[in-house]
Amino acid sequence: MDANLYTLFESRFPADRSAPLLHLDHGRVLTYAEAEATSARYASFFAGLGLAPGDRVAVQVEKSPEALLVYLACLRAGLVYLPLNSAYQAKEVAYFLDNAEPGAVITQSASIPWLQPLAAARGIKNLFTLTANGQGTFVQATKSAASTFATVPRDPDDLAAILYTSGTTGRSKGAMITHRNLGSNAEVLHKAWGFGPADVLVHMLPLFHVHGLFVACHCVLMNGTSMRFHAKFDADRALAEFRTSTVFMGVPTFYTRLLESPDLTKDACANMRLFISGSAPLLAETHIAFEERTGQRILERYGMTETGMLTSNPLEGDRRAGTVGPPLPGTEVRVIDEAGGHCEPGDIGQIEVRGPNVLTGYWRLPEKNKEEFTPDGFFRTGDVGTFSHDGYLSIVGRSKDLIITGGYNVYPKEVEIALDELPGVHESAVVGVPHKDFGEAVTAIIVAKAEAKPSEADVIAALRARLANFKVPKRVYFVEELPRNAMGKVQKNVLRDRYSGG
Ligand code: ATP
Ligand code: MG
Repeated sequence: MDANLYTLFESRFPADRSAPLLHLDHGRVLTYAEAEATSARYASFFAGLGLAPGDRVAVQVEKSPEALLVYLACLRAGLVYLPLNSAYQAKEVAYFLDNAEPGAVITQSASIPWLQPLAAARGIKNLFTLTANGQGTFVQATKSAASTFATVPRDPDDLAAILYTSGTTGRSKGAMITHRNLGSNAEVLHKAWGFGPADVLVHMLPLFHVHGLFVACHCVLMNGTSMRFHAKFDADRALAEFRTSTVFMGVPTFYTRLLESPDLTKDACANMRLFISGSAPLLAETHIAFEERTGQRILERYGMTETGMLTSNPLEGDRRAGTVGPPLPGTEVRVIDEAGGHCEPGDIGQIEVRGPNVLTGYWRLPEKNKEEFTPDGFFRTGDVGTFSHDGYLSIVGRSKDLIITGGYNVYPKEVEIALDELPGVHESAVVGVPHKDFGEAVTAIIVAKAEAKPSEADVIAALRARLANFKVPKRVYFVEELPRNAMGKVQKNVLRDRYSGG
């Protein structure tokens, strides 16, 4: 049977193809019929360029409906979709082009001056532009292509996409994602989160990352319903859309920004049935504040580029603040101690996962593939966590962020939680920086609350009363805001560099 992900979506499309897939600005709508015809045209065009199934198509563009249709066209043509963060500059893009060797590149007009020479030097002839408002040479060139296309059958293990990881802990790695990986996760999430005919999703995430592209769009495509599609997050527009929508997916910073609006009320969210958060840890404080304001408990889930979604708090039942819930059906999640045994509930260890959603490997990084998979086929996530007695996973941090000071292990999260509980602290990040006596020194970077100005000595004294001495920061620095990437993740590598030797 054909395992092409597009064929799976197509089997769920509404019988009446004049139904909307996207609600756009100014009342514009993109119907399922238009999505089918345009993705067919794009796919015919790709085939006409001589691109063969398995060839890569790199796409570095602003979010637009057309960008989503390029993704669907790649699926249909059996091409491997390779989205790139629109903020990446020449040096970063050069690495992706060298690594992935795409047969075609679609980019934003502003990048052409530096991208053209990069592409030419690598013999990439197919270079097109696509703008945020759906213009550009790609759209021009595809106008006369055939608007019917027979979707290319795929095996479950054929690649559908190469997604580069966010680069939070080092150089981005290309995760090879198959049709099986995406299809299995889409089925599981659609069911777990109870999607049904009345659902309308508010989409404000970027399309170059697993969260916006796969988690959000796939749930809608599997459901055959529509989404309100916006170029980026905007709290006021989100609040307006909530009145006529049912599901929202966001990164934690979306929720903290919604909480800053006085218009976030129970009434404003009365039509919404589900708020989902992921990509970075949601503070328990945000979860609680959001419930107080709206009566809705945010559902936090956990996943990564390499694996899709792994765990989720339940739709029915206890959504526990500060946890990412039990494993999703079909995914095995285990927590392993230093000796390689299973951790008891409450003990902290390395999170390893196995399932149909887990990547087949990193693109052209054979060494990494050897390191990151266990002999029994589990993928080492690099995250550290613990299970509760009733099977809820909590993420404690990343193993790369673990601090070893004077021979003791310190999990930054534990220190961050203690810091965040201090009255003058808005948020915090804890990193290890090189230290001549201790190996690493626990170092805290704090965003203070506007009304409070605690001193370094105050913070250290307050923590001495709460934590073992070796966990107490040696130095405390105050900043206006923490450095974050596009997905709202705190960039600890930036902080480590900044405060090393300070
Ligand atoms: P890189 O692998 O390049 O260093 P990255 O791991 O940040 O970057 P992503 O695949 O975008 O790249 O992010 C996955 C990671 O995000 C997970 O491994 C985990 O550390 C974190 N994450 C995702 N969801 C949650 C969550 N709900 N709570 C805590 N952390 C989360
Ligand atoms: Mg990662």
